[in-house]
Amino acid sequence: MNELYLGIDLGGTKMLAALVDGNGTIVARTLQPTMAERGVEDVIDRLISMADSLLSRHAPEAGKAAIRGIGIAVAGVLDPDQGTVVLATNLGWKNVPIGRLLEERFRCPVRVLNDANAAALGEWLAGAGAGSEDVVFVTVSTGIGGGIVSGGRLILGSSGSAGELGHISIDRNGPPCPCGNRGCVELYASGSAIARRVREDVRGGDPRTSAILRKAGFEAERLTAQHVAAAAEEGDDYARNVLADAGSALGMGLVSIIHLANPNKVILGGGVTEIGDLLLAPMMETLRKYGIPEMVNQVAFDRAQLEGDAGAAGAALWWKYERMPVARHPRFSR
Ligand SMILES: [Zn+2]
Repeated sequence: MNELYLGIDLGGTKMLAALVDGNGTIVARTLQPTMAERGVEDVIDRLISMADSLLSRHAPEAGKAAIRGIGIAVAGVLDPDQGTVVLATNLGWKNVPIGRLLEERFRCPVRVLNDANAAALGEWLAGAGAGSEDVVFVTVSTGIGGGIVSGGRLILGSSGSAGELGHISIDRNGPPCPCGNRGCVELYASGSAIARRVREDVRGGDPRTSAILRKAGFEAERLTAQHVAAAAEEGDDYARNVLADAGSALGMGLVSIIHLANPNKVILGGGVTEIGDLLLAPMMETLRKYGIPEMVNQVAFDRAQLEGDAGAAGAALWWKYERMPVARHPRFSR
């Protein structure tokens, strides 16, 4: 029987469990609201029953024995060696040994991974990253996150937190960021940042915001980046400028990312990048203007393919990745 891996994307609002085969194909998935307010035990119990039901439907004979490894993608501070979620503010979790609990239950190795790194691994192994060993994955939605694959290895860092691409500063005199830094690219180019900027102009009585405001049903608090995109697509100049500024900021962040990681592929994911050229053309313009040409020109840009499934797929494929031949490591292969 085909090898199977279980991937769990444990988010603040939703949790996704997916069975993934050795080729990186999702053979079954199930989604539930997280309802973290019910407490740690309740969430873990429901995760276990989600996994059980996937297994009983898709591997009824082999059952638990079919799973070669489990990966759990979580946003927060993790201890990957202990399999512990040290701090996940979106879940209200502190020191939860989820790895050990699932290991006892499913009798296979369990790994906890930063959610953005898991998504990067998923896109690299099973999505748009095929054929490249030097890939940067950037996702732009409410926030900005990502991960770096270099020489065929996912860069994890000493505590699994590497790749905080949203917190690259593009202005040391910029506004303070909750992370402690100033002028982080996330403060200018994320979906929240785009909406926040327009909302501030609405509050300031700027008449240029009227087309966007109409899209949001005249409720400034409901306004999102998608409303800005809708107005921009109809030719609204102000909305186009807002997106161009955000795209340019994203390009500025990418300059640093490309200078740091020297990828030959950048995969763009997240709802905000789906806005398309109104955001991405200014991004590319900034990138070409400020990046080292020899490094920028050899980068292929690609759309993410797995989107909402990337985190679960990448977490599932951790154990497959972990067992990839050492020869993939550049020290041995080049
Ligand atoms: Zn920051």
